[in-house]
Amino acid sequence: MQQHTKFKRVLVANRGEIAIRVFRACHELGIRTVAIYSKEDQCALFRTKADESYLIGKNKGPIEAYLNIDEIISLALKKGVDAIHPGYGFLSENPEFARKCEESGIVFIGPHYTMMEKLGDKIKSKIVAKEWGVPTIPGVEKAVVSEEEVLHAARQCGYPVILKAAAGGGGRGMRIVRKESELLKEFQSAKNEAKKAFGIDDIFVEKYLEKPKHIEVQILGDAHGNIVHLYERDCSIQRRHQKVIEYTPAFSISEEKRQEICNDALKIARAVNYKNAGTIEFLVDTHGNHYFIEMNPRIQVEHTVTEMVTGIDIVQSQILVAQGYPLDSPEIGITSQEDIKPRGYAIQCRVTTEDPSNQFAPDTGRIDVYRTGSGFGIRLDGGNGFTGSVVSPYYDSLLVKTVAYSRSFEDAAKKAIRSIKELTIAGVKTNAAFLINVLNHEEFLKGECDTGFLASHPELFA
Ligand code: ADP
Repeated sequence: MQQHTKFKRVLVANRGEIAIRVFRACHELGIRTVAIYSKEDQCALFRTKADESYLIGKNKGPIEAYLNIDEIISLALKKGVDAIHPGYGFLSENPEFARKCEESGIVFIGPHYTMMEKLGDKIKSKIVAKEWGVPTIPGVEKAVVSEEEVLHAARQCGYPVILKAAAGGGGRGMRIVRKESELLKEFQSAKNEAKKAFGIDDIFVEKYLEKPKHIEVQILGDAHGNIVHLYERDCSIQRRHQKVIEYTPAFSISEEKRQEICNDALKIARAVNYKNAGTIEFLVDTHGNHYFIEMNPRIQVEHTVTEMVTGIDIVQSQILVAQGYPLDSPEIGITSQEDIKPRGYAIQCRVTTEDPSNQFAPDTGRIDVYRTGSGFGIRLDGGNGFTGSVVSPYYDSLLVKTVAYSRSFEDAAKKAIRSIKELTIAGVKTNAAFLINVLNHEEFLKGECDTGFLASHPELFA
């Protein structure tokens, strides 16, 4: 007996490149698409890529417009929407949104809200990982409330320590502390930042690892208890704990270690019977030990590189899983873990409208010329950039994701460089020259960069 429904209309509660990415997946699946947009996004490109689009948050600010749960759900109900895809950021990790969708009879394309509650918080997910025998970074797995508690926790870990927001994301609410004399000041500022960004100021403490690699594993689960991993990504090229370039496979790590990390990711996903797409993140220290850090219960910006090497459309799979299709259905086509055989190398570069020579200050204004470099081996996931478009100061500065794919890492890097060199943007500054500097770097080409690489190479900030 068939156990799936068919969506007729999907609303994307997001904007920019990820909204376009989801619309494309829906159109390929024969599903009608509905966009929402803030008044600041009235002229944004993503609106035109959906079959219908509606203004939301008339009396709200540019960010709040996309965070208004009740308005989005009531619009979805009015327009006969079957399902909502949250993209990344905004409401994507908000269990209340997922719950309210379910209560309104709308499918939330993501994991169940109870799972988001269980794993969305970094302290809770660390406890789950530990319970299932997956290594975690030494630390104190509870929120430190008082100054005495934070002092005690930091002494227990041993300096340097890192203070992290339980609800954290995007590197916010995170502080590295090397000396006890700096702890209380940093504790207060981490709390303030977390409160402002997430509305919750729970902070926990763990040992700060010097120069680790960030390795993460893509997970996909269906509603029938089947879970697979789609191998790992190396996301160590970071600036201020934010990813800049991501690639797969993480070829500088041994085959055995990569397998171990992927198996640990599966352990965590299976422990919670994970459904839909998610990512389990690890740090690997200079001795080759790996530690779970967090779970992201949503699609990630860098899902593209995994798609290129596995041939699996992760966004389509999310939508199909949400309709009840099992992983081994002909529509998704993953008959077993062994069936997933990555081939080649893929590198994603985040081209942003930031000025690397001025501490990556976001640039805004009219794009007078927008010409991209495509061609063999290049995939471009664009946001709102086109000749004549305006980059506003309200949203993140991602302009286009350049994804290069080839049989060797070096070739993929060459393709990425070629594509970014072909990119012509006039009117706003971009980080293109900086990306090329990194792609040309010997350490990068060996796959050896750790999360401290960019900070120790300011000469690359052209
Ligand atoms: P966020 O959710 O804000 O992105 P993460 O927990 O995913 O935060 O961590 C982001 C990055 O911060 C990691 O990739 C790593 O570079 C750095 N980081 C986090 N925890 C540690 C740690 N214990 N030691 C060293 N670096 C860390």
